Amino acid sequence: MNPSDPSHAISRILVVRSCQHHPEIERILTRSRLPHEVIDDGAVDEVLNRLTAGSLSAGKKILLLRTNKGGFIKQCPATRCYRCCRYRILYIGGGCPMDCSYCILQAYLNQPCITSFVNVEDLTTELKGELNADMQLFLRYGSGEFTDSLALDPITNLSSVLVPLFASQDRALLELKTKSASIDGLKDISHHKNTIVSWSLNSEKIIACEEHGSASLGQRLAAAAQCSSWGYPLAFHFDPIIAHHGWREGYENTIEQLFAAVPANSIKWISMGAFRFMPKLKKIGGERFPYSEIFSHEFITGLDQKKRYFRSLRVELYKHVYDLLKAYADPRTCIYFCMESDEIWHEVMGFVPSDRNGLQAMLDAAAMDRSIG
Ligand code: SF4
Repeated sequence: MNPSDPSHAISRILVVRSCQHHPEIERILTRSRLPHEVIDDGAVDEVLNRLTAGSLSAGKKILLLRTNKGGFIKQCPATRCYRCCRYRILYIGGGCPMDCSYCILQAYLNQPCITSFVNVEDLTTELKGELNADMQLFLRYGSGEFTDSLALDPITNLSSVLVPLFASQDRALLELKTKSASIDGLKDISHHKNTIVSWSLNSEKIIACEEHGSASLGQRLAAAAQCSSWGYPLAFHFDPIIAHHGWREGYENTIEQLFAAVPANSIKWISMGAFRFMPKLKKIGGERFPYSEIFSHEFITGLDQKKRYFRSLRVELYKHVYDLLKAYADPRTCIYFCMESDEIWHEVMGFVPSDRNGLQAMLDAAAMDRSIG
């Protein structure tokens, strides 16, 4: 497998019979050059069970192509207890060919495979309806919530539809979030800086030991530099920040490499989020990755019922990463927490989002500031 292109992990495609003649299917099969099987709509679970025996690892080699009969746009499932940024999720499919030990999708997905929706025309219709609606709000969309935004792009080429669509309007941005280096589809297409390409970053040790099948730090940063040279604004996510042996040096090294690779004034925002997980993920991840030590820390149960590090450790992790980011980042880059309380904001950053009209306004301002990115 070529880790900079995780789509190479897929070895088989299943096509649901009711959409086998959709033009997108032929394009995907031509691009992938993989064997495929047409299956009856009612037999999906049975076929997946035959091929994977319920194994998430086996399912990561299988791409299921089907139509989405529900909505393509969802509100980010934030909780009331932590500061949230009001993000619109583009539901382009589910699952991912990479295999991070901490991936929350392991506990979410009800089918052990990767799913990609082929009725792209319905996605664009729904999206255009929202973008053309008579609202004053600026909107930020992302497709990296239930899958990786770019991991399948070499096969689906969805970026060639979404990026020009966002380029054709001026009231919304699209964020493509990835741990891959699959950026070829972004070259030579119209973006008008309305698409932000973002990478999740971690210490090289966490990338090597916990983010299986993902691009290396060097590959991610080289891809980011390339996107910046094509004029795309960038963003980065230090999420999950994980307490591990040598974490101080590890995050310091990553941040130094980040700012050596890309211009600081190309970065719209950087988020930080300490490792947190739904309780049932410990059993699933622990069994699938028995050598991982990330679940064997002490945790408390947060207000959202997720397991989190003790507050003192979260503050220690955040202060270290934040101080380093502040030393290198452009002052216009919005550095923010994903899902943290006002107490943590104040203790680490010295202010709370409401001092600056709220997190949503902070990110909207960075999104709309054409002088950065
Ligand atoms: S890259 Fe993201 S979606 Fe894919 S396995 Fe890792 S955490 Fe999950």
